[in-house]
Amino acid sequence: MNLTATLEGGCLCGAVRYRIGGPVRDAAHCHCTLCRKASGAPVVTWFTVAPRDFSLTRGRLSTYKSTPGAERGFCSSCGSPITFFAQTSPEDLDVTACTLDDPETIRPDRHIWTTTRLSWLHMADGLPDREGE
Ligand SMILES: [Zn+2]
Ligand SMILES: [Zn+2]
Repeated sequence: MNLTATLEGGCLCGAVRYRIGGPVRDAAHCHCTLCRKASGAPVVTWFTVAPRDFSLTRGRLSTYKSTPGAERGFCSSCGSPITFFAQTSPEDLDVTACTLDDPETIRPDRHIWTTTRLSWLHMADGLPDREGE
């Protein structure tokens, strides 16, 4: 998926709002155990933008280092997970698709980290599985 549009989104409580003003790519359903714990959901759908194309229009993100060199950004009021950034991929900022005001804009094209996919989660979407990212 490759999309260029101005997208807006925010957290559950509205304290954090963001705008994306550049190309959106690599929308994927992540089955890793860290996304699971961070969200409380069996799968988290992400897309990727360049960090310079992401700006906060309200509030600020709190961060948590979920692995060395990688940081998850979330709203400290309501807990919505919003961003993921790893120093090993400085051109990539991952954003949770379902914090977009209109998640229908995004078209995930694969499942990632599927070796830890839960056995009771069945998504008959026909999309390819990737053992890593
Ligand atoms: Zn919030
Ligand atoms: Zn993940």
